[in-house]
Amino acid sequence: MSATCPQCSASDCTVTVPYALAATTHPPLDEPTRARLAPPPPPAPGPHKSTVATVFYALAGVFITLSVLPLARALREDLADAGAVEVIAVFLGALTLPGSLLTVGLIARAVSRRRHERAFADDYAVMNASWQRHQHVWQASWFCRRCHVAFFPDAVLRPDFLASPPIPLDQFPLWVVTATDRAYGFPPSPAASG
Ligand SMILES: [Zn+2]
Repeated sequence: MSATCPQCSASDCTVTVPYALAATTHPPLDEPTRARLAPPPPPAPGPHKSTVATVFYALAGVFITLSVLPLARALREDLADAGAVEVIAVFLGALTLPGSLLTVGLIARAVSRRRHERAFADDYAVMNASWQRHQHVWQASWFCRRCHVAFFPDAVLRPDFLASPPIPLDQFPLWVVTATDRAYGFPPSPAASG
């Protein structure tokens, strides 16, 4: 099958996007072009951060800093002649609060991470179905080596699917989303229709 490029009206330089990325019979595409034509990324958990843990870490840092000077002074003056047990007791006393705060921060972070992972697992089926649709649409897209544009031929996704205009590569990922909405009967996404 060949498709006619909507920009140069020729089909001698058109290939499907997956073929363009995989082909070794032509000079390979440069990296920026490959990146723009890349398939939709599979669902992955977003970055995780725990504000509660960060607050506890910060408090622990503050109390450790506040403990250092009095400890140094105590070691130099009050505890200069003290025994090891007494010195250890003073150290433990000074570090108990920062240590507790640090422990609470670690626990808060672990709990938050587990909740984050569970939310991703709960949403995975929906996100994966959406990704499969985007993947299907991406596989139906074409690329013109001469014009360096992408396009969707007439009826490539379903009989009433109208051909796209030439798509500049920096707009291609957004077009995959828009075409998915059109092909699967969702209303056009506002961001992509403008
Ligand atoms: Zn062309």
